[in-house]
Amino acid sequence: MDATLARVDVVVIGGGNAGLCAAISARRSGASVLVVEAAPKFYRGGNTRHTRNMRCAHDSATKILSGPYTQDEFFEDLLRVTQGQTDEVLARLMIRESQDMLGWIVEQGVRWQPSLGGTLSLGRTNSFFLGGGRAMLNALYLTAERLGVEVLYDTEVVEMEMEGGRCSGVLVRRPDGMHRISAKAVVAAAGGFEANIDWLKEAWGPSAGNFLIRGTPYNRGTVLKMLMDKGVETIRDPTQCHAVAIDARAPKFDGGIITRLDCVVFGIVVNNRAERFYDEGEDIWPKRYAIWGRLVAQQPDQIAYILFDASSLELFMPSLYPPIAAPTIAELAGKLGLDAEALTRTVEGFNAAVRPGTFDDKTLDDCRTEGLTPPKSHWARKLQTAPYYAYPVRPGITFTYLGVRVGADARMRMADGTGADNLFAAGEIMAGNVLGRGYAAGIGMTIGSVFGRIAGREAADHARH
Ligand SMILES: Cc1cc2nc3c(=O)[nH]c(=O)nc-3n(C[C@H](O)[C@H](O)[C@H](O)COP(=O)(O)OP(=O)(O)OC[C@H]3O[C@@H](n4cnc5c(N)ncnc54)[C@H](O)[C@@H]3O)c2cc1C
Repeated sequence: MDATLARVDVVVIGGGNAGLCAAISARRSGASVLVVEAAPKFYRGGNTRHTRNMRCAHDSATKILSGPYTQDEFFEDLLRVTQGQTDEVLARLMIRESQDMLGWIVEQGVRWQPSLGGTLSLGRTNSFFLGGGRAMLNALYLTAERLGVEVLYDTEVVEMEMEGGRCSGVLVRRPDGMHRISAKAVVAAAGGFEANIDWLKEAWGPSAGNFLIRGTPYNRGTVLKMLMDKGVETIRDPTQCHAVAIDARAPKFDGGIITRLDCVVFGIVVNNRAERFYDEGEDIWPKRYAIWGRLVAQQPDQIAYILFDASSLELFMPSLYPPIAAPTIAELAGKLGLDAEALTRTVEGFNAAVRPGTFDDKTLDDCRTEGLTPPKSHWARKLQTAPYYAYPVRPGITFTYLGVRVGADARMRMADGTGADNLFAAGEIMAGNVLGRGYAAGIGMTIGSVFGRIAGREAADHARH
């Protein structure tokens, strides 16, 4: 191994939103900072590249947000989606600090744009990055570098030198070999383990082989695993994650936002036995989109098909791939490899159960089925206008929730209950502290920004003393 590559006050592992917020915050607090990023420069920024928005509390409408979203309402939403599985102290801290994030992130060069419409209807609660996640990252990198933060790409942390809760240095693998980086404090912001199929299989069984990973292939959980092995306390279980239904034709990794399908509410969803398995119209889509990954994961061969007819084609954002079309349900079944008779039976049964109503995709309307199991509670309209369409869908894992436990200062906690000496965490790697299950759009970025800023500040403070 080469000699020590760098000696710094703070080393930040991972160059996504959480890592960059930490790096900027540590540097602004006076520390020398090095960011080590496993990916090459083009792929820097992990899952953050794919993002579009962040959820922040605010007391009144602004140029970019259509109305107030109080801290209490944010907390209520978090409680509802997590069904109470959240650390209340950390959740309230995150929400309180999110209010200030709207301005802080702008001070770091990021720009907001007026909210987008569409199926997730986030105009009031979520701020959208002008140019999306990549533009946001470019701004953060530029600011970090202008402040004097050094960034090393193609640099994967493969070992942490630890004694108890103290890390004296990290070993990195670079194209030219192994190196050691010596640091007074470490911020782990290296994402979850969603891209580690073997780890997913340990949690989910062999079915995880059929999952698609919506984001970066670099979040393999190596840093999380090291920390777990070295006695850091963990939080949450490995099956909890954010997973949506995405186009089954998407690439295994990094398909991003354009492979997500939001048309479930407009049709019916069947498995490969041509059977429906869940109420497609249970609630408005922003509250339900994140359950469909898990639902499809529970089906045979982890595949399902969203079926709809010509009357719904223009109602939603399409996938990157065209829907599969056919003039009859039986022919559609043929194209999907489903049993034609079974699919025709399912569609006829559904059509017969649909009760007349007034269709309105913006509210919980009165279009529903009667006497059908499972029911379709809203937006139920007969599939009767050719051509008929289908999208094949698979579980698309966005990020995992198993992570390291932290305190309000983003300092990791050791399994024996003590605080780690110089180890801090931010982002997906500690998301489980506030997200025990479920999800509400935009919280991923809130976790990274808020805890990133705290972790950087605290790491710098530790280094100073
Ligand atoms: C398609 C998609 C859309 C999304 N949209 C949104 C959205 O609009 N709003 C929202 O709030 N959330 C969204 N999310 C979730 C959001 O992306 C994450 O919650 C957030 O980006 C996590 O930030 P992070 O910094 O923790 O991780 P990341 O941004 O993933 O960064 C982690 C970094 O660590 C690096 N790394 C990993 N292992 C190592 C190692 N051993 N050594 C060195 N570096 C390492 C990786 O290369 C990566 O760059 C979306 C996710 C996806 C996949």
